Amino acid sequence: MQSLHSAAVLCRDVTAFLDRLFPQSLAEGWDASGLQVGDLDKACNAVLVGLDLELEHLDSIGDVDLVITHHPLLFRPLQTVRPQVPVGKKLRALLSHGVACYAIHTPYDIAHGGLGELLVRSLGLRETRPLVPRGRLLKLVTFVPSADTDAVADALFAAGAGHIGGYSRCAFRVEGTGTFLPGEGTSPYLGLVGQEERASEIRLETIVPAELGRAVIEALDAAHPYEEVAYDLYPLEQPSTRHGLGRVGTLPEPRPAEDVVEAMRRFLGVQKSTECYGHAGGPVTTVAVCGGSGGGLWREALAAGAELMLTGEASYHEGMEAAESGLAVVCLGHRASEMPFVGHIRELLREVFPGLVVVSR
Ligand SMILES: [Zn+2]
Repeated sequence: MQSLHSAAVLCRDVTAFLDRLFPQSLAEGWDASGLQVGDLDKACNAVLVGLDLELEHLDSIGDVDLVITHHPLLFRPLQTVRPQVPVGKKLRALLSHGVACYAIHTPYDIAHGGLGELLVRSLGLRETRPLVPRGRLLKLVTFVPSADTDAVADALFAAGAGHIGGYSRCAFRVEGTGTFLPGEGTSPYLGLVGQEERASEIRLETIVPAELGRAVIEALDAAHPYEEVAYDLYPLEQPSTRHGLGRVGTLPEPRPAEDVVEAMRRFLGVQKSTECYGHAGGPVTTVAVCGGSGGGLWREALAAGAELMLTGEASYHEGMEAAESGLAVVCLGHRASEMPFVGHIRELLREVFPGLVVVSR
């Protein structure tokens, strides 16, 4: 990953970097992610990363410029803001020290490369996919002179186009004839001003995650040789399978359920599970994971063939119904299951902003 050595890093640079990895456009409709308090157009020398903004963080809040949390500080509508209650104390501290507060809640749960991938990677799961796909897809169609098609396609793929499941560089090409008449004041790549041109072109089409639409079009503009680039970008009905809530995958070989649970406990640094519903009979192959309150996804996990689901928490009734339907559900604690967020964000920021002080709790 490229480091940003600029002396003056703004809070906006930090959140823009994180937004490229965990786009706020992926947030669930009910979520309250993003900037909640303060101003991002100011220098950023130090950042506090936490699962939540906690009262114990307030003693040193004046030492940082930006707070990045998983859970939003403001989630339900506030009726009052009083310094006697925790949220009032936190708002007063942030505002009086001019500290911005930014949440990456469901975008971190949903985005490819967020919490879901950390959890499945810790178990060595393969052929992983979201339990509930999220995110929109766009179809991009553009028309390129034959000789330039490879270069344009490379640029689109480098900007994030062309992923379908485990396949990358997916596109379709068909040859045809493009026609255009360059007007006064143009400097056409092919043909002459005032004369209709018939050019041998490739119709190149590929698929683009909606959150990367702008970046892919910028890459197209930069790589395409024409002065005016002809393209169509239109929304698709099918969801992206790259992003989504929860993940399911298969183990390289069947393992006893207890071993899988133990591996996840070690990864999360927890001694024991908080709740267990049902018993995975014998070795398991297909495992579902979902950090936080993932019990509500048990039906999707069962439908995906999972024999075991590891999550932060499930309600008693969710757990019982899942167990009686044949899916064992093991809860490891809401906080513990999402704690990898803190170290992950800290390491990403340290790598990309080497001059930034990153405090994590
Ligand atoms: Zn949570």
